[in-house]
Amino acid sequence: MDAQMDMASYYEVDASGKPVSISVSLTPFSIQDIKTCATCRGPLRDVARYGRLIRRAILDESTKKLIILLNQEYAPLAMELPQLVRELHETKGQRKFPWPAVIEISGSRSHQIQTMGEIVRNTNPDRWNSILELRRRVDLYRRRVKPEEQPFERVRKMIENARQRQRISINPDHVDNVLQTKGFLQGTALLIRLDIALLVDLLSLVSQVRSSDIIPRFELDLQKIKDDCQTLIHQAVAHQRLLQQVEGHIFLAQLYALERAHCLTSEKRNMILRNGQVAIQKAQGLCDAHPGQTRGLADEVRSVEKMLRGGTFYTIITNEERIQVLSAMAQEFSGTGHWYYCRNGHPFTIGDCGLARETSRCPECDSPVGGEHSLLADGVRHAVDWDLDRERLNL
Ligand SMILES: [Zn+2]
Ligand SMILES: [Zn+2]
Repeated sequence: MDAQMDMASYYEVDASGKPVSISVSLTPFSIQDIKTCATCRGPLRDVARYGRLIRRAILDESTKKLIILLNQEYAPLAMELPQLVRELHETKGQRKFPWPAVIEISGSRSHQIQTMGEIVRNTNPDRWNSILELRRRVDLYRRRVKPEEQPFERVRKMIENARQRQRISINPDHVDNVLQTKGFLQGTALLIRLDIALLVDLLSLVSQVRSSDIIPRFELDLQKIKDDCQTLIHQAVAHQRLLQQVEGHIFLAQLYALERAHCLTSEKRNMILRNGQVAIQKAQGLCDAHPGQTRGLADEVRSVEKMLRGGTFYTIITNEERIQVLSAMAQEFSGTGHWYYCRNGHPFTIGDCGLARETSRCPECDSPVGGEHSLLADGVRHAVDWDLDRERLNL
């Protein structure tokens, strides 16, 4: 990836090839800088800008490749989960061995999954094979797209190290503006979604006990996964990603509902209910304010509300609308549309360059992208088409 990004062309490098300073601003160009689109044959304003434009194009091009890759890998994983959950829901427990007297789910998330996996394997062999295999792939995806693993972040760290040795003129925070966090947040949310599905399946299997059986006692400690929901929400807020904010609140509410169903003291049950209701209100508020960005999630908010109030839980079936959103995502960015970045740095495409309508909004953060007379709103930037520019400029 480093070679592909041609780091040396926008970072000044030292003798060993490590970047010591940034030779081009990494903050997005304003639309005035670019003025017109290469594809539309509009004139580029002045020759002096070409060098900077080309360096910017390299950056844009690697960002595009990264985003296409993230979507292509994420969408199939995200679509496989609801399918497996549905299959689990339709498969009755075929318990071959008795439940343990106490089921203790505590500790780190991976430890919890391991414990639950063993319990299910010992009682309902093979039931979780496919979903645990999917979990391994989701976990791997999430690790691979971690911001710290991405080239920009590696560059930022190198710059920071270099800065400790000598005075250089870059503010590392600027690099964060172009850092792609989308894949990581999506992967984080998907892993939480999957773990909740596993919890729900185990709890519902146990609830199918026959009257002659010992009913196992649950000791549920969901603090770790609730903390991860809070982190997801904070990161989604920091990067203005509405969808993952709503998901974080929904997951929290689902976890409260699970806790509530297995909690014995009424005082604690009331407290959990209130926490869950707060999470639901936040999710609902975001869905109401940004229906386009949160498509497919309003149903999930409604069903978790029922779960919480009823003190019971059921399989979380993903609705058709969300499935459609996910399958559209697999196609996203793969067409021939023009790439833009909204004022918060989220990439999106517009099929016909001239059609940035006054009413159009960023699909992720709902900020305006269209201005008057089919112009772009302030802060929206047209991504540079590297291939087209190279052609035009005879490079
Ligand atoms: Zn254009
Ligand atoms: Zn945006």
